[in-house]
Amino acid sequence: MFLRKSLARLFACLFLLVPVLGSGILAQSTANKAVGSISAVQDDPDFARAVKEWTTRPEFISPLVDHLPKVAGIPSPKDVLGHHIGEPKKLTYYADILKYYRALAAATPRVKVVTIGKSHEGRDLVVVFVGGDESIRNLEAYRGYLAQLADPRTVTDVQAKDVIAKAKPIYHLSGGLHSGEVGPSEMLMELAYRLATEDSALIRQIRDTVIVSITPVADPDGRDRNVDWYYKYGINETEGRTTGAGVPYWGKYVFHDDNRDINYSQVEMRALLDWYLQWHPPIMHDLHQAQTLLYTFSGQAPQNPNLDPILYGELPAMANFEMSQMTKYGMPGVWTHGFVDMWSPGYLAFMSSNHNGMIRMYEIQGFSGANTQKMRLGNPNGTGANGVGGPAPAGGGRGTGAPADAAAAVAGRGSQATRDWFRPLPATGEFDWSIRNNTNYGETGVLTALQYTSQFPKIILENFYVKSRNSMETGRKETVAGYVIPAGQRDMTRVERLINLLRLQGIEVGRASAEVKLTEGTFPAGSFIVKRDQPYSRLAKTLLEKQVYPDPSLRTYDDTSWTMGLMSHAEVKEIADKKVLDLAVEPIKTAEIHLAGTLSGSGSTIAVAHNGSNNMITLRYRLKDLTVQAAEKEFKQGDVTFPAGSFVINGDGARVRTEVEKLGLTAVALPSAPQVPLHALDLPRLAIYSIWGNTQEIGWVRYALDRFEVPYELIFKERVKKGDLRGSYDLILLPNQGGSGKRLVFDIENRGQPIAYKKSDQFKNLGMYGESDDITGGMGLEGVAEFEKFVKSGGVLVTLGTASYFPAEFGLAPKVDAARTSAQFYAPGPIVNAEILKPEHPIFYGYDKKMVPVRYANGPLLSVQTGVNPFADGLPPPGPPPTPQSVLMRYPGGDDQVLSGLMRGATEIRNRAAIVDEPSGKGRVILFAGNPCYRWQNFGEFNMLFNTVLNFNDFKSEPAKPATTDTPAR
Ligand SMILES: [Zn+2]
Repeated sequence: MFLRKSLARLFACLFLLVPVLGSGILAQSTANKAVGSISAVQDDPDFARAVKEWTTRPEFISPLVDHLPKVAGIPSPKDVLGHHIGEPKKLTYYADILKYYRALAAATPRVKVVTIGKSHEGRDLVVVFVGGDESIRNLEAYRGYLAQLADPRTVTDVQAKDVIAKAKPIYHLSGGLHSGEVGPSEMLMELAYRLATEDSALIRQIRDTVIVSITPVADPDGRDRNVDWYYKYGINETEGRTTGAGVPYWGKYVFHDDNRDINYSQVEMRALLDWYLQWHPPIMHDLHQAQTLLYTFSGQAPQNPNLDPILYGELPAMANFEMSQMTKYGMPGVWTHGFVDMWSPGYLAFMSSNHNGMIRMYEIQGFSGANTQKMRLGNPNGTGANGVGGPAPAGGGRGTGAPADAAAAVAGRGSQATRDWFRPLPATGEFDWSIRNNTNYGETGVLTALQYTSQFPKIILENFYVKSRNSMETGRKETVAGYVIPAGQRDMTRVERLINLLRLQGIEVGRASAEVKLTEGTFPAGSFIVKRDQPYSRLAKTLLEKQVYPDPSLRTYDDTSWTMGLMSHAEVKEIADKKVLDLAVEPIKTAEIHLAGTLSGSGSTIAVAHNGSNNMITLRYRLKDLTVQAAEKEFKQGDVTFPAGSFVINGDGARVRTEVEKLGLTAVALPSAPQVPLHALDLPRLAIYSIWGNTQEIGWVRYALDRFEVPYELIFKERVKKGDLRGSYDLILLPNQGGSGKRLVFDIENRGQPIAYKKSDQFKNLGMYGESDDITGGMGLEGVAEFEKFVKSGGVLVTLGTASYFPAEFGLAPKVDAARTSAQFYAPGPIVNAEILKPEHPIFYGYDKKMVPVRYANGPLLSVQTGVNPFADGLPPPGPPPTPQSVLMRYPGGDDQVLSGLMRGATEIRNRAAIVDEPSGKGRVILFAGNPCYRWQNFGEFNMLFNTVLNFNDFKSEPAKPATTDTPAR
């Protein structure tokens, strides 16, 4: 064993530069020499002893991390936290993590902490820089060099060489994005200390040539909530998750989706992006916990072809280096390939690849707490072994309805205990796994990545520059030369949002100073122009183009489409005409644009055109004390057309004007009320219902309603069981949740103990966004009965996505059937056409086309019976089925209706209902098969939900026509 370690330690250093090689490698960990102003550096024997004890097998550690210097005057993690990193049953709250980094920064010139924003709950968001004294002293200069390389227009190739000679790469590491993946945020503290204090040849080389930056915890609110939960419940568990429930929330709104937040809606993600665009780290590396024992991302297929081919060489090079080094240290279970692909650009660290840098990702074995747990892998021969036994590796996944990041794993080949070309030394058998093992693996991996970076710092910088330059040149050479987003679109507020989302990612947008004539058409002055001869030209194309999935036989980890124009229902014109590159434009210099609304004319009645702006609902709520009505038919005033659904407002014209202008709407003051039928836009007493076991999709709807200033009450089974829902609410919204009606009703299984989610003096982060004495058991059948009473007595129940199984399966909408797609069907978030069948229905106020793009959400296949016993005759009637009156929108289905991304088996959804408005008793149930409020992304659909809220008591049922059973065609 001793021999193995010594050899490994030697090997660890063979990759060092030759001059370094001469300086006493073998003595690396036992005879550290003076470090700058620091006097003698000795290793801490207490650390070595503790770590050896906590490491459950000798091969689960490397010579890079089995020691730690002890330096007078510089606090180690133990000096501040009271224990070494990786002590079983110890997790650190965020305030203590910050306390540690700040203490470290105060003690050494090699560490600097900068604050970059605040979390939703007010915690400081920081980036910690670690590097040599000189690097940290001259951080601004190094930032400047990277900014030059990021924008090749600022340098010639010759000058770039000079910049590269002076520059150092920033390697950014991030932990705690997923709050149940607790280990990396602990490890990073030890890493920072080691990088600042250790005097080994390897660490010196890293310190001299690389600047390391760290996000200690990407979601600090979720960190603290998860740590509370661990100390309340997890710490007493012996094997696996015996309570059967995780903490109901991580961040304020989302769980794992902070890694899918493609439009950077969450403040934590946005702050990091803003920081990124200031500092341009060529590498960003997210540290997760969802695979055995360490998976290192290599950017496998399906790959986004817009990204630079160089990147697809860099990614496996680094991953293979880590795999070979760690395998050399004897650490089993290090592998690459076979998990996450390189298709969706929405993962957090993808901000780097999107801006010509490099995304990196680990999945390290770990749990949501710090208990040591048993693991059972396949047989030790590694042939035909199947399945990973023992507790789920991630410990996350609660609130998502899926096992953590593994939800859409693309592994496909064998198990993690099987040897494969990408997994040369699998972990096998049965063993205990401790949080120190997690630290050992994570820190060894990261140090190895930094070793590689310090070995080739100039190559990494050169690649960053060349990728940035290529991005501009590709834009000049490729077929797509740019995009025009025409001015004068019906609703410019969604255009404004689209432009601002491009701008926040650093994409350059200009406004045409005159009318634009291109092969593709003529566009008015003021149109927005995105030219592709800019550094972020590849990103602009990625976001704006239609996604053509490269191989339908491949599975992917997240969505297959995100086309911004389709998601926003805004016109975006792809331009091949190279003249677009030479158009005179006025560059938008501000971070955001604001297109002011207009109020013209004079009179005491003000009409506000409903052209589909999501801001209409904000206007209504801002003017909640005024009388606002909706026009049921289109009318005109002067040259302004007011479509059905337009607001007619009486009173306080000055206030209306202010809000109309702020919200970018079009209004005219009328001499008298328009001669069309009107209905009052009463505001419903609105509740959002949430189960306890799956709160993320609800979180996205809460987020959207909060952003658009729509007040609601968030209710749980506790409120439902109290009864008299109708006494308190007019509309209850069930966002996508549960995955099935049964799960929505029965939710988290009770395993004998109540599980409370409540605030206490000890656990201040629990009991937020809802509170419960026992989150298990669901609302049960008594809750179903209360929902039925609510609807029958006049309430409106609205269900989105998979929540629409609930009214169909539990008889609240007895005529509606909800089926599932076949096992062959595969539709990871494509955008498809939907056909509006009842354009006069208030849900479609503001929509002017019959066919609209919608994101397919894998909700139920809905159909509505129309009076004939569906079981009488199993065969569908000949010819196309009649469409029941209550079906408002449907999916035409078929491959030609897929507008972006992948839908395998597109005929399965043919003529299935997309929205059903089903009267029931005095009330009604409105079922959306899709999700009109998805991840701050499908803004074009938001209005279907918002219109439902605003017109909740204005839906009219047409008399049912006699018809036969509606059996959807296949
Ligand atoms: Zn994760």
